[in-house]
Amino acid sequence: MISIKNLKKEYPNVTPFFDINVEIKKGEVISIIGPSGTGKSTLLRCLNLLETPTSGEIVVDGEVITKKGADIPAVRRKMGMVFQSFNLFSHLTVIENIMLGPVDLLKLSRQQAYDEGLRLLTTVGLVEKALNYPDELSGGQKQRVAIARALAMKPEIILFDEPTSALDPTMVGEVLAVIRSLAREGLTMMIVTHEMKFARDVSTRVFYMDEGGIYEDGPPEQIFDCP
Ligand code: ADP
Ligand code: ADP
Repeated sequence: MISIKNLKKEYPNVTPFFDINVEIKKGEVISIIGPSGTGKSTLLRCLNLLETPTSGEIVVDGEVITKKGADIPAVRRKMGMVFQSFNLFSHLTVIENIMLGPVDLLKLSRQQAYDEGLRLLTTVGLVEKALNYPDELSGGQKQRVAIARALAMKPEIILFDEPTSALDPTMVGEVLAVIRSLAREGLTMMIVTHEMKFARDVSTRVFYMDEGGIYEDGPPEQIFDCP
């Protein structure tokens, strides 16, 4: 589904990675672990075209998305993103936050987007908050809304950039539980995380990133059983 070929990203003072080559298949749940500052988030942002790689190529469903003239909105529709800091619109209610993309980009009617939004809010356990504003929710609830919003675009893959790092410890579990249930449904996901137990239990594959690139790539049993 996704091929990353010879991918390199250079900033003026640091080169987070210079030779990433991986293939990502439908249904994989990939945790990306490793020390801070090693390029985990930059890799996700390159996939979503929030960053331009310095060289190399990303191919999604046979199409090179890193070339000039690529259809950026179409790429972002295929690859939902959930950020550490939620990025919800504070002047819109929860349901309006979720409806926005489907109405504007998928051209659903407001009624269809509303019904689908309520269904997704039910799956993340927040249907009773549909008419609240983000500021009226806890951090864990906001992140579950952000996940519902990403799902509403029917993406082929969801990229999570440290989805629980901004949360109070008491709220981490509720967000991980939602991601875990999406994994059970077979959704393709990549998750940058420091939650090692989660990475071990939920992923089908783990990338260990350190300075320069991906140093280990394998099933969690293999990555976590290393001494
Ligand atoms: P991680 O997600 O593994 O913590 P990041 O991908 O956020 O790492 O960052 C990798 C490195 O690139 C860090 O040294 C960071 O400071 C640097 N970096 C990230 N974004 C930028 C940017 N926009 N400009 C310059 N340097 C950046
Ligand atoms: P995260 O932990 O979610 O990756 P960061 O704090 O690393 O968040 O980065 C937040 C934003 O700051 C990103 O847009 C990133 O590109 C930018 N950034 C990170 N490190 C640097 C840096 N050294 N110089 C300039 N911009 C940076």
